[in-house]
Formats: sequence, structure tokens, C-alpha cells
Amino acid sequence: MGRVFNFGAGPSAIPLEVLEEAQRELVDFKGNGLSIMEASHRSAMYDEVHNEALTLIRELYKVPEEFDILFLQGGASTQFAMVPMNLSQGGVAEYADTGSWSSKAIKEAQIQGIDYKVVASSKESNYNHIPEVNFSDDADYCHITSNNTIYGTQYREFPLTKAPLIIDASSDIFSYPVDWSRIDLLYAGAQKNAGPAGVTIVIIKKDLQDRVKDSVPTMLRYKTHAEKNSLYNTPPTFGIYMLSLVMKWIKGQGGIEAIAKRNEAKAKLLYDAINQSNGFYVGHAREDSRSLMNVSFNIKDKDSDLEAKLVKESEEAGMIGLKGHRSVGGLRASIYNAMSMEGVEALVALMQDFAKRHA
Ligand SMILES: *Cc1c(COP(=O)(O)O)cnc(C)c1O
Repeated sequence: MGRVFNFGAGPSAIPLEVLEEAQRELVDFKGNGLSIMEASHRSAMYDEVHNEALTLIRELYKVPEEFDILFLQGGASTQFAMVPMNLSQGGVAEYADTGSWSSKAIKEAQIQGIDYKVVASSKESNYNHIPEVNFSDDADYCHITSNNTIYGTQYREFPLTKAPLIIDASSDIFSYPVDWSRIDLLYAGAQKNAGPAGVTIVIIKKDLQDRVKDSVPTMLRYKTHAEKNSLYNTPPTFGIYMLSLVMKWIKGQGGIEAIAKRNEAKAKLLYDAINQSNGFYVGHAREDSRSLMNVSFNIKDKDSDLEAKLVKESEEAGMIGLKGHRSVGGLRASIYNAMSMEGVEALVALMQDFAKRHA
């Protein structure tokens, strides 16, 4: 069996050790005579998995006591709507627009009919940087996208706000230690950095949960899930099990600090290859905003067929998922936690060789 290097943006690579452990346990989970997929979400067998996932997230991501960790469904896209539904208080919600995902979050605020304001945007430059963001002290809440998966930009530091800061961290959750003193709610779909699609992680301060209006449906209230330890209804049990294995893997790698160091080294290797290509490769993101998770780049003469050719060669060499998103074109290498240094080295070697042949 040959495993490819998967540079896809999401769903994306999962560590091989995690897949193998799931395979070993798939049919008979720890001698229980059934799969974890078949177990009741009220069983002791599942309960242990559920709580282990929660405990490991709190331990490894250093989530303070005043936050609840929730496992929801509906993806980050449902959070775009749940945030205004639960947190709007009749004042103004403020957003920074740093790409397509931020724009979608803004659209849901609009659909909810709440008052909102876009305080900063890099749309004019095709979202190639993180703009300076200044939120009002009296906003109902402020919303940012920490890593812009398509454009390959990432905040170096979260804005300091008086109003609650809400972060869509779908594509960089668990990739570096975050500063919880600046955060009030952080959410992410699991399928980029934390496991398979199907579970959405929401980490929310307890004191934000009481804002919710009576008209919000039970399932769309953070409070419902917080009060029941994310077991109000059937949670995505298999996804949570996989998430627990991914967290164990992170722990085995030395924790999120060690993962962050490796992520920096991987990204440096790729950006160095772009910087040292004599202009053959052109990064989309401005250097001060470069993402450590998604490296979006073009080949200097965008109109030639070189980009398609490089994608084709990469596939022949066992690398997949490198074709860039249509809004940027070119190539995008998603180098989440599960991408090995070896995979990045293979890509860089191909890029250097390709540039030599076509410069
Ligand atoms: C992928 C992604 C989303 C969408 O996530 P779903 O779970 O598919 O709804 C939202 N925001 C960001 C930053 C993403 O990368």
C-alpha cells in the first residue's frame, strides 16, 4: 500500500498512526465486542472516549477553567449563524473581512438581521494580507478568521479587544499555543487539523452563554450543549473518537508547543524555496501575513501552462491536493499538523527541480 503526501486543504491528512490505531480498534473496541461506532452515546464505553477527548483538549490547548469545550455538528459554517444568534444583544457586531470565510460569516450576521459593521478588509488586494484591525470597545462582539485557508494569510497576534473576541480557527486550531486572555469564543470544524469531518469544536467562555434570546432553537444554543457536556442529543461519536486519537498523537509528539515548532520549520522550508526562486514562484500572501498552514503561490507567468504542469508532476510523484483555489489560482500547499517534514521536503525538491527546468 502506498500512501500519498496529502496537501489538500480539507478534509486533509490524518496522522498514519491515528488511522492505524482506529483500524486496530474498529471492529472490537478494547475487548467490548463491538465498534465504538455501534456503542450507545450513553454507554460507559463511549463516555470514556468523550471525556478523554475533552480532557486532552483542555490539557494540550491549555484551555482555562472559565471556558467550556463543546462538540457540535454543522461545521464552522453553522457557527457563522450561531454566533450572531447567541451573542447579539441589539447593538453592533463587528467583523474583520480577511477572505471568503470571513465574508460568509458576515453574510450570516446579515441574514440574522442584526446590526453589523465590517471594520477592516483586505478585499481590494485579493486578501493578500491581514489588515490592521481596530474593534470598538462597545461592540456586541468582534469576529476574526485566524487563518485564511484559501489566501494563505494568518494573524501573528490576535487583536486586543474589550468586547468579546470570536475566532474562526478552522484551519489552524491546535497548530500553536493561543493566548486565551484575548479570546472569548473559538470554533473550528475538525476536518483540517483535528480529524475527520463531522465534529465542530467550540470553546466558549461560560459568561457568554446567558445572552441567548428565547427565540433561538434549543439545538442552536451554546447553553444547551454546555449544560449537558455535549450529550444533549447524539453527538458525532466516531468523529469525537478520532479527535481523541489525534489529541493523543499530539501529546505523543510533545504537545502543541512542539507541534508549533515543527510547523514553523515546515513553513520556513517552503517559503524559503519561494523566496530563493529568483521570482519563479510568487507567494500570494504578503510576507508579514504568511500562513504557517496554507502556502498559496503562483508561477511567475500565470498565463502559461506551467502551474498545471507542476500540479500534474506533483501527482505523478505521489503528492496530491496542490491545485490552488480558483480565487487565487496557482498552487496551494496545506501543511497542517499531520503533514510530515518529509512531505514538505519532497515538495520543495520537486519545486526546485521544476524551476531549474523551466526558468
Ligand atoms: C473550511 C473552513 C470553513 C468551513 O468549514 P465547514 O466545517 O465546512 O463549515 C470555515 N472557516 C474556515 C477558516 C475554513 O477553513
